Amino acid sequence: MKAKTALVVGMARSGIGSAKLLYKNGYRVIINDVKREIPNLAEALSDIEYDMKLGVDPMELLDGVDLMVLSPAIPIFKPFAIEAQNRGIEVIGEIELGYRYASKNANFVCISGTNGKTTSTTLTGEIFKASGRRTYVLGNIGIPITEYASEIKDGDTIVVEVAALQLESIKEFRANTAAMLNISEDHINRFGSMEKYVAAKERIFENQSKSDIAVLNYDDECVRNMAKLTKARIVWFSQKNEVDGAFIRDERIIWRDSGADTEIIHTSELLIPGRHNVENALCCTACAASNGVDFDTIRKVLREFKGVEHRIEFICEKDGIQYFNDSKATNPDSTIRAIEAMNRPTVLILGVGEYDKQSDFTPVFRAFGDKIIGVVASGINVPAILKAARRTGFRNIVIENRGLKEMVLAAKEMAHEGTNILLSPAAASWGMFRDFEERGEVFREIVRSL
Ligand code: ADP
Repeated sequence: MKAKTALVVGMARSGIGSAKLLYKNGYRVIINDVKREIPNLAEALSDIEYDMKLGVDPMELLDGVDLMVLSPAIPIFKPFAIEAQNRGIEVIGEIELGYRYASKNANFVCISGTNGKTTSTTLTGEIFKASGRRTYVLGNIGIPITEYASEIKDGDTIVVEVAALQLESIKEFRANTAAMLNISEDHINRFGSMEKYVAAKERIFENQSKSDIAVLNYDDECVRNMAKLTKARIVWFSQKNEVDGAFIRDERIIWRDSGADTEIIHTSELLIPGRHNVENALCCTACAASNGVDFDTIRKVLREFKGVEHRIEFICEKDGIQYFNDSKATNPDSTIRAIEAMNRPTVLILGVGEYDKQSDFTPVFRAFGDKIIGVVASGINVPAILKAARRTGFRNIVIENRGLKEMVLAAKEMAHEGTNILLSPAAASWGMFRDFEERGEVFREIVRSL
């Protein structure tokens, strides 16, 4: 029988995972990317055979292809992907591919939402690991499912961070537990509209059955309405209401199951700051408790979890000023959470990137109250930031486009003893930095060298 041919489009880490998995499962593999050269690619693929078609329009590569696997960065509505489907080629994304080769008797605990995915996926992963279950933490968090798919056996737990970009191209992917944290504006440029972004997110529930679990944020109206989309059992979490699931009473996290309440911990025992992290802790508690993890394990991990770097990460205090790195705040809502989490007057560093998501920054400025005493901004979003400042009458704003170092120095001018300086850009780092990690690391270095 003639081997089937797969075309992998987009050769970042997920493309590498896909190419290897396909080759090991008997496919003839063609790899493609708009870039003509990708450092270290040959090394990463050294144990497989493949046809290299870098820098070629994928439209020209469709002849004889049976399966196309897209990187999450590539929209499924690109003309070449549509043409492929018209020609009868199956087009899927990386998580779908990984799922197909993993054991169907593994437990997929999937976490999505606009903000808090990485924090909640990491924390949930820690809880499952501590419970003694064989656990993988994969997906958008940086390790593709395809990298471990062949190892995933019956009974393993796979905690998956799932982004909207990845859900666009699923077919059979089934979340045994699907958790949705929150929905706010993000990626409008990529999806075309808020409706389309939400519709992509909602696909996480698509293949759920009655024996599955949907963990939903009761406090978020958009998420609350998702209950009607799934056949799964609904487990709620809420900071405002006593729901079936995880909620807050007298500042304590309570787990309610079949009418019985169990106190988990006091919120002040959490090391991760801010109300948004209480939301994340509730979501993780609900994911773990509904999957039968014992309460002592949940308590222990909630008390020990220090958070993930670049998320309101405390760097140091110098001259009475505390510095926080929240480089991962790449949309307005996450910056609003960081502002809320600050317990002192704060100078905010905004923008710091050359990528325009067409975000509206007005809600960020509306969240300032008396807390934000100054803003330093740079990058492509400056006009939108200035528009928001004008609308809300905020005047203490400095534009500094020479570099992050100069921005920090300008922020220091506005700060004084007893205040904070917070990098929480509300925008992507691309065009100025490789990614938000690099932006955060550079910021940390600048602060340490002050
Ligand atoms: P994601 O993986 O969804 O981007 P992260 O855990 O990496 O989420 O956090 C991204 C940004 O959003 C950080 O700036 C973080 O402080 C903020 N954040 C984390 N959890 C929440 C939440 N539940 N609601 C709003 N913002 C959040």
